[in-house]
Amino acid sequence: MTPPSALPTDTPPPDPAGIDITKESRGQIVTHSPTHTGPSTAAAPPEFARPTPDDRAADEPVREPTDGRPEAAPVRVQVVTLFGVIVPFLGIVAACLMLWGWGFSWVHLGLLLGMYVFTSLGVTVGYHRLFTHRSFETNAVVKFVFGVLGSMAVEGPVLKWVAMHRRHHQHSDAAADPHSPHHHGEGLRGLLAGAWHAHVGWIFERDPDDLGRYVGDWARDRHAKVVRAVSNTWMLWSAVGLLVPAALGGLITMSWHGVLLGFIWGGLARVFLVHHVTWSINSVCHLWGTRPFRSHDESRNNAVFGFLGFGEGWHNNHHAFPTSARHGLRGGRWT
Ligand SMILES: [Zn+2]
Ligand SMILES: [Zn+2]
Repeated sequence: MTPPSALPTDTPPPDPAGIDITKESRGQIVTHSPTHTGPSTAAAPPEFARPTPDDRAADEPVREPTDGRPEAAPVRVQVVTLFGVIVPFLGIVAACLMLWGWGFSWVHLGLLLGMYVFTSLGVTVGYHRLFTHRSFETNAVVKFVFGVLGSMAVEGPVLKWVAMHRRHHQHSDAAADPHSPHHHGEGLRGLLAGAWHAHVGWIFERDPDDLGRYVGDWARDRHAKVVRAVSNTWMLWSAVGLLVPAALGGLITMSWHGVLLGFIWGGLARVFLVHHVTWSINSVCHLWGTRPFRSHDESRNNAVFGFLGFGEGWHNNHHAFPTSARHGLRGGRWT
């Protein structure tokens, strides 16, 4: 990997020749959170580069309350998405029940943790920092590997994830933000409605029509074919991410029982955990935590998800310095 390079501009320009990920992604599961904008840490150390109101771009969108409810995705898409949310939940329920029965072993706990580490790194290093924010440049093999690992998290095709996340940064906590927890009403009811929307509700909504304009740079990238191929085959890699722990569980224990437990622990339960940590960056980290930087939104630093998300929880830092490969910024935070 090479150090951070020249960084994208604040607002991706309309790109008629870009990738139409909206059409190709219909019916597929998308999750996440994370951008692409803001001052570069390459220019000055973060501690000396706190953005101020004067740093705001002249064309920064004006935040407006969300008016009206977003349009729901087609029923077929909602059913597939629901399947992708519920099945991992059932997996972790099964894994927990087995803890008190016949199903626990250190081998399968190891598969859970190992798969969690690899696929979470696929999301945070690959999907988020490499593909969305282009925080570093690298070769085709590394792009392929991180694209595959991120796909194994079952969060949808990488190019759609990138487009959604760039849109989040462009309109963070404004009306066009795909998953802001704000502007959903007053009081506890509004808070709960907003948290639900930002966490998981938004993935049941119809895709914005202009997602393709956010990923035109990847259509022109020197490794465009590799990235597009990984994006188009994300369901294959999602399945591989479920089958690998099953196979390892079987081979290590030399039993069918091990295959089943590997699938449940390293596959379904792991997907559940990665999903909800990722989604919590969108919900929790725009609601609860500290704001050391005056970013133009409600992003927060939350140490719990800084740990669980391998740095993603330093979300106020990230919104202030979106292209920084490090989100922790300060000494002692290795992420
Ligand atoms: Zn981001
Ligand atoms: Zn955010």
